[in-house]
Amino acid sequence: MTESSAKAVLEEMLASIHERREKLARHVHHREEPLPQDFAEQAIEVENDETMLALERELTEKEKQAMQALTRIEEGTYGVCTNCGEEISAGRLQALPAAGLCFDCADLEG
Ligand SMILES: [Zn+2]
Repeated sequence: MTESSAKAVLEEMLASIHERREKLARHVHHREEPLPQDFAEQAIEVENDETMLALERELTEKEKQAMQALTRIEEGTYGVCTNCGEEISAGRLQALPAAGLCFDCADLEG
């Protein structure tokens, strides 16, 4: 994957993360708003607050990784493991464009 296509993929990833966060924020904060027509759905959403927060954290983490990967593209260090300095395999970057660690280091981190 070339750096410019990686950049496009990462930017798209960030855009979809932002979109999901906005949707999530509406779910988490809309209790002051009038109840939606679908009452049952509302009840489920409140019960799922914990899940929402977990998802929010996950999105924040993904956003951070994507931003860091974009920074590495700017710095010309994209595709290089931030831990050991080895090149990250093309297949791994294809599957995880925001990956900052090579397979071995990611494996060690668990
Ligand atoms: Zn490594």
